[in-house]
Amino acid sequence: ARKVKPGVFLPHLVAAMEGVEETYVMIKPDGVQRGLIGEIISRFEKKGFLLKGLKLFQCPKELAEEHYKDLKDKSFYPKLIDYITSGPVVCMAWEGDGVVASARKLIGATNPLQAEPGTIRGDLAVQTGRNVVHGSDSPDNGHREVALWFKEGELCHWLPAQALWLKE
Ligand code: ADP
Repeated sequence: ARKVKPGVFLPHLVAAMEGVEETYVMIKPDGVQRGLIGEIISRFEKKGFLLKGLKLFQCPKELAEEHYKDLKDKSFYPKLIDYITSGPVVCMAWEGDGVVASARKLIGATNPLQAEPGTIRGDLAVQTGRNVVHGSDSPDNGHREVALWFKEGELCHWLPAQALWLKE
């Protein structure tokens, strides 16, 4: 259950946040190496989504393989596993109404050259194989990936002070 100070927050807002959509966003090793962590986190933070999990993490090969198991028959799969495990990544769990599709919009198209300006990949990357960030592609995968990358004790179920100013 969400830990909120009784009497301070409107109960209907807390209730409305139970079972809300979540997505897994990850700054890939190129984003970390290029010093883009703050820039990328900032875009989701400013949008108004709720950060419920955050860590810098060296991804083991087995986890990268599990995460990308649907792509294992692709020619680029071995390179993709090498890339994701080549250095630390930043793992994030974000929560909010429509957060999965909205995060994908903020991230932009898989190929950064086709990603719109204003998107993370459109503004900050040039190659599909170095596209700086990941975002879950469906609500089901959002839940699956948050559970895959985070232990329950690493997630915070909280209500930010700005919540009352984000939703009527
Ligand atoms: P997205 O990350 O936009 O959901 P996909 O699920 O299709 O895209 O692919 C997962 C990741 O695999 C991409 O973000 C990219 O890092 C890598 N990838 C996809 N296609 C290619 C490719 N043709 N060459 C190299 N890497 C690729």
